[in-house]
Amino acid sequence: MASPDNSLPLVELRDVSKRYGEGAERVDALVNVTMSVFPGEVVGMLGPSGSGKSTLLNLVGCVTEPTSGWLQLDGEVVYDQRWLRRDLRRLRLEKIGFIFQTHNLLPFLNSIENVAEVMELRGVKPRGARTEAEALLNYLDVGNRKLAMPAQLSGGEAQRVAIARALANRPRIILADEPTAALDSQRAGVVMDLLRRVATDRGGAILVVTHDEKIFNRFDRIFHLRDGRLEGIEQTKASEPRSVVVPEPT
Ligand code: ADP
Repeated sequence: MASPDNSLPLVELRDVSKRYGEGAERVDALVNVTMSVFPGEVVGMLGPSGSGKSTLLNLVGCVTEPTSGWLQLDGEVVYDQRWLRRDLRRLRLEKIGFIFQTHNLLPFLNSIENVAEVMELRGVKPRGARTEAEALLNYLDVGNRKLAMPAQLSGGEAQRVAIARALANRPRIILADEPTAALDSQRAGVVMDLLRRVATDRGGAILVVTHDEKIFNRFDRIFHLRDGRLEGIEQTKASEPRSVVVPEPT
């Protein structure tokens, strides 16, 4: 496989808007959002409640249909005024890993099975999937809990297994919704370290919606949303000067 070109965005939105409802019910949840996220980046999406963060994450995750605009994921234009792919479930399986605040583990499967299940969905044979799942749990420093059921895991362990599950289909795009909200600062730091490792080792793009101030200093850039608009993009790398870039009006 050709090595990925890190100068091309993994996620790119152009003039993406989302409107819910009509007439008096109309809500402009996103208005002409243009943004790019590059391989190796861990970015935050911040804004007050109702500013459009979840809508944005769900659009990139091909869960919510935009009203208009253009969306490219991992080298493929997937939306251009309409979905360009019919099977959105397969599209998600190919390109995207999801991580939620309350880990989305299946309660009746142990850690290995929770991860292997997703691998089997992408066609890996059960035995190979178990081996690969175990390697992934080891990579995320939770291999010692491979046979535990979700209810037996601590919050931090469960979140690491959930990250393994999100990585099981080898996506280059990871979407995380408040992944550290239920964790203390030490465990939140571990989760952010792991997401950073994924971005670096796999050339992934990690998009995190959060209110969690403990992790604001873990992002390369922060996209600030307000009233459905991208209000500014903050460079947060310690090595670079802090600055907020206000996007050109479109
Ligand atoms: P945030 O994640 O920043 O809290 P959301 O993306 O959830 O913001 O919501 C943005 C706006 O869109 C809000 O005004 C919200 O009420 C509205 N909204 C979100 N989902 C729906 C929906 N399914 N139907 C109608 N309005 C919605």
